[in-house]
Amino acid sequence: MGDSQNKFVPVDKALNIILEQAMLLGSERVMLSELYGRIVSEDVLSDINVPPFDNSAMDGYAVRHSDTAGAGPERPAHLTVVGEIQAGMDQRNIEVAERTAVRIMTGALLPKGADSVVPVEFTEEDLPGKTVAVFNEVGKNENIRFAGEDIKNGQVVLPRGAKCSSADIGLLASLNRDAVLVHRRPRVAIITTGDEIVEVGETLQPGQIRNSNAHTLSAEVRKYNGIPFYLGIAKDSLKTTKEKFMEALKYDIVISTGGVSLGKYDLVKDVLIDLGVAIKIETIKMKPGKPMIFGVRDRTLFFGLPGNPVSTMVSFIEFVRPALLKMTGAGKLRKPELFAVADHAIRKKTGRREFFRGYFFTRNGELHVNTTGPQGSGILHSMREANCLIVLPEENDGCAAGDRVLIQLIYHEEID
Ligand code: AMP
Ligand code: MG
Repeated sequence: MGDSQNKFVPVDKALNIILEQAMLLGSERVMLSELYGRIVSEDVLSDINVPPFDNSAMDGYAVRHSDTAGAGPERPAHLTVVGEIQAGMDQRNIEVAERTAVRIMTGALLPKGADSVVPVEFTEEDLPGKTVAVFNEVGKNENIRFAGEDIKNGQVVLPRGAKCSSADIGLLASLNRDAVLVHRRPRVAIITTGDEIVEVGETLQPGQIRNSNAHTLSAEVRKYNGIPFYLGIAKDSLKTTKEKFMEALKYDIVISTGGVSLGKYDLVKDVLIDLGVAIKIETIKMKPGKPMIFGVRDRTLFFGLPGNPVSTMVSFIEFVRPALLKMTGAGKLRKPELFAVADHAIRKKTGRREFFRGYFFTRNGELHVNTTGPQGSGILHSMREANCLIVLPEENDGCAAGDRVLIQLIYHEEID
């Protein structure tokens, strides 16, 4: 059964097929307190200047710069102090006339007539409250923060597709925005399959395996702005597997684990076909993660991930993650990839892309990488210890110690 063009799809092509099917989700208004990490779905414009007025960048004296011309440690300029302005005070009636100065605090509104601020450390009061000695020249506009120098009225502050950082949220607050439009979070159903799978807290009988995949996947889904809904275990019968998947049809994404190899009880593909899911991918030219079913029904994406815990995670990172991000409107889908020197030889088969759990570090300012021990797809602690995936390409059969290899920084933000 199935279409042979869906089999042994190269990694890059598989990702294209998947992204083509990932549709942008609608928008919702979200308050600043819930905004961190969400993707804005509108161009956010400023309707004010930030800062809103010219103000002092220093504690000191607002002056006319020409009145400080020629001033030095031996020849201070003496100016008459005509007032004081604190931050937050409206002192528009105070004016700096020739040979006068106004004591001013950081952030305070710059008085009329002044064109620069002398920092307090270059001054000394000669007659307290009456005159000030200035021991330094200041240039025009020195130590002034001008209205609109951070953000101008009408400027796009956050473009659609931006992921809200702490700084973004602060900027929105300074614009007096308490909420913005963002793409809604994808609702993601998670199903595990297998008669041998036992939930956390239950007694493990001989031959049974503890369910870890549901938990790693829920955490990953959350990390990328999805809302995970764990639907439980589908036992290895057509009837119960179909029932589970029927519960999942209303979600944006459905992820299952296990049941996608060639075993007698690998039923996911047949069930999906039975439910009217159009299968686009059945196997991928990669390791781990060769068996992976991808299909679409209406706007719902179905990912039948392999059951082995490492394969599940690698397939999630390479395929589900970018689809999830695209649905939320994220402009950046790719983890950074860069070269590091392999400290050990690594063997692989030609004809498929292989992903190894790696740990990168610097030695004499240069990036190096090692694998994190045994690479079996069931060995989840090799993933725990990893800070990257070493990505060896289809065309070679491995690398020698000292070769430059590509590493994918899976814990870094997406950069392009
Ligand atoms: P399968 O493709 O269903 O044969 O599963 C492949 C391997 O992954 C088997 O050794 C399963 O026991 C294991 N496995 C499947 N699902 C899970 C799960 N939810 N948690 C941990 N291991 C699993
Ligand atoms: Mg199974």
